[in-house]
Amino acid sequence: MKALRFVGVGLPPVVEDVPVPVPGPGEVLVRIGGAGVCHSDLHVLDHGAQGAGSKPAFTLGHENAGWVAAWGSGVQGLREGDPVAVYGYWGCGHCRACQSSMENYCENADAVPQAGGGFGLDGGMAEYMLVPSPRLLVPLGTLDPREAAPLTDAALTPYHAIKRALPLLTPDANVVVIGVGGLGHMAVQLLRVMCGSRIVAVDLDDGRLEHARQLGADLVVNSRNGAQAAETIRTFCGPRRAALVLDFVGLQPTLDLAVQLVGRNSQLTVVGVGGGVLQLSQMTLPFGCSVSTPLWGSRAELLEVIALAQYGRIHVDAHYFSIEDGPRVLQDMRAGKVHGRSVLVP
Ligand code: NAD
Ligand code: ZN
Repeated sequence: MKALRFVGVGLPPVVEDVPVPVPGPGEVLVRIGGAGVCHSDLHVLDHGAQGAGSKPAFTLGHENAGWVAAWGSGVQGLREGDPVAVYGYWGCGHCRACQSSMENYCENADAVPQAGGGFGLDGGMAEYMLVPSPRLLVPLGTLDPREAAPLTDAALTPYHAIKRALPLLTPDANVVVIGVGGLGHMAVQLLRVMCGSRIVAVDLDDGRLEHARQLGADLVVNSRNGAQAAETIRTFCGPRRAALVLDFVGLQPTLDLAVQLVGRNSQLTVVGVGGGVLQLSQMTLPFGCSVSTPLWGSRAELLEVIALAQYGRIHVDAHYFSIEDGPRVLQDMRAGKVHGRSVLVP
């Protein structure tokens, strides 16, 4: 089968022919419907995958959905052809966090080799993908796996980040979303259905900002000029400023902007792994502002996100490509030319 492979740090990804995997005891083979292309794939290409069990070369793709194709001994309760989302963070499955479905915060993460498919193990940018346990498969109901694939990260990650901050998101509060790309365009929609707060969207790309406005942002601001953007947003928010700033970029300029936007008793949530550094002391942030660096979301939260999509309350702006298109799509993402979410369809 064709697969888009990581072959070394700093090297471009390569389309290769690899054997269709055979599920061993406890494992499930999924026929891939779609695999979302995430900005984190670029981080993997640039820096490699960190899991203890990382393979030197592996198939990319951690945002996957498809149909159950086969399973190994000991697996029960599945039917061939069941549409499923693949939960992406593969924890130990035993610790308290994993037992309560928050594998994204697995307590044995340092010791457990399963970083996840696409993060050191074979992912879903291929015709088939091996999933180590049926517990990592979430039923898709009536959703088409091609459309649903990005829900497993592009929607799950912002959903989790927003849910953590919900007590702050009263109707008289303001939320700022920095970076309205794959994750950010879902964040704007999720905020619309999860709270009544006013939404400010920030980006460098006017097309994406216009899209964010259509999706429900109350104010859109281009942050080309950081000082001017801060002033515009502060005027809009008033003296309370923002109760929540979600930074889906994480570069130095976006963190610097975020610091100027948070109010007292607020939350600054950094999701983007841009490598910017936040200065933290008693005096660098407004009093009561907490900083959060959430990772992905829980399995239960993925069920909730799937329900929102199934009821038509959120919608991925998906654009479809073949596995062979993968290297070009990743290049376009690096150049800032990708809108919404690109999905590779084998
Ligand atoms: P994307 O490329 O689809 O979107 C990024 C958006 O940010 C684009 O719209 C771009 O125009 C905008 N942007 C870039 N630089 C900017 C700047 N200086 N100021 C304002 N806007 C700017 O990326 P994505 O797939 O949505 O991923 C976003 C980030 O989140 C990446 O760093 C990714 O690795 C990270 N991520 C983190 C988690 C997690 O669990 N913490 C999960 C998934 C992705
Ligand atoms: Zn665990």
